[in-house]
Amino acid sequence: MPQPIGQIESDVAPARRCNRCGAAVEGTRHTRTDYVVGYYLLHTGPTSEATIRRGGDDEMPVTYRRLLDVVEIVGCPRCFGEPEVRRLWAAFGGPPGGDPT
Ligand SMILES: [Zn+2]
Repeated sequence: MPQPIGQIESDVAPARRCNRCGAAVEGTRHTRTDYVVGYYLLHTGPTSEATIRRGGDDEMPVTYRRLLDVVEIVGCPRCFGEPEVRRLWAAFGGPPGGDPT
């Protein structure tokens, strides 16, 4: 298969920016023995309760939470240490893992 010509720029993902300070963040970089976290991403959004009915009328409808709107919250490692950001994180999805202290 010949390579397509004229596509010098490869797929560069749009730079993510920290929601708090606006700093550009990079993805996690792995080395042989360790890794460096580039940013923290929280994938969340407002939800609403929805029901889905399956099978016949005698089946109970299943209630689940539907994600209405996807919100991505990006935090650079520096801001992630801020209590304000930690609170936001905790409010959405529980404690973040991997506290190095
Ligand atoms: Zn930041």
